[in-house]
Amino acid sequence: MSNKPVRAQAKGSAGVTAAQNSAVGEQAPEEASGTARPAPEGKGSAKKPPGAPARATAGKTASKTASKTVNGTPAASRVPAPARSAGKGRAESRLAMVRRARRINRELADVYPYAHPELDFRNPFELLVATVLSAQTTDLRVNQTTPALFAAYPTPEDMAGAVPEELEELIRPTGFFRMKAKSLMGLSQALRDRFDGEVPGRLEDLVTLPGVGRKTANVVLGNVFGVPGITVDTHFGRLARRFKWTEQEDPEKVEAEICAIFPKSEWTMLSHRVVFHGRRICHARNPACGACPIAPLCPAYGEGETDPEKAKKLLKYEKGGYPGQRLSPPPDYPGLPASPLGARTEP
Ligand code: SF4
Repeated sequence: MSNKPVRAQAKGSAGVTAAQNSAVGEQAPEEASGTARPAPEGKGSAKKPPGAPARATAGKTASKTASKTVNGTPAASRVPAPARSAGKGRAESRLAMVRRARRINRELADVYPYAHPELDFRNPFELLVATVLSAQTTDLRVNQTTPALFAAYPTPEDMAGAVPEELEELIRPTGFFRMKAKSLMGLSQALRDRFDGEVPGRLEDLVTLPGVGRKTANVVLGNVFGVPGITVDTHFGRLARRFKWTEQEDPEKVEAEICAIFPKSEWTMLSHRVVFHGRRICHARNPACGACPIAPLCPAYGEGETDPEKAKKLLKYEKGGYPGQRLSPPPDYPGLPASPLGARTEP
């Protein structure tokens, strides 16, 4: 199977049922760059920049500022100031919030037309394994680890029969390697014994596999089976709360509330766009508000750096000129591929 993701093809429903989130694969992964703890959410003291317009003006113009310079003025300094009506200052109706949420989704689609799953994979089994490994580490570290892993164990049958110590050694760079090795062998044995060695395409089957909960299942369903799903990882949950789409902390409750805001056909790509934005601009500890193209729509504007020049220096990955997470990114990815394990990955 091509590693180009299937994008938001609505062929069925991911549903919103009870989950098994205690599995290893469901612990929210976090950037490995010392940002393991999210920044305080909803400070309620978001700065109101002087001269903020009364109405949001973000549109395609705002979305494209990140890579342009006009009259010598860096794009970041031209990010429109947030509107007073972006969910703060006065109560926002449900209808207004839903409209604002959908507009954010459209803006993010303009900013990240190349949004994609940032795990390298060539088939459903590889995506399933990579997603389980991504708990408590970065996608980059997983992508640097899986080439040797899949060379040694290309199929569920191979991984089911692995020598545990040898499997652990291969996945050691991803952390929690003993627990993850147990999950990988368990899910491989289940695939071999109960699913004829194939990854099932139904959520209710996927969550019966060791180490697989709703988040992992939705990643697999959305990106190889075309079944829409919201993937609530640490980035998605943080941004959904900053956007005031939800106040829930529990990933399942976040998923249920976000599903009620957006059409099903948007769920998978919305997940990618929001995670892309969280990794590149709206970081956990110091979001780059002054360089954020959706600032006019964000109630949390001011939680991070608002000075355009300083904010611009906080941008990551292709926005900041750094290599991305994938060693084999899709052809439309505008940034640099990541480097193999041990190689320097940032300029
Ligand atoms: S970077 Fe700032 S303005 Fe942009 S989405 Fe995050 S909190 Fe909102």
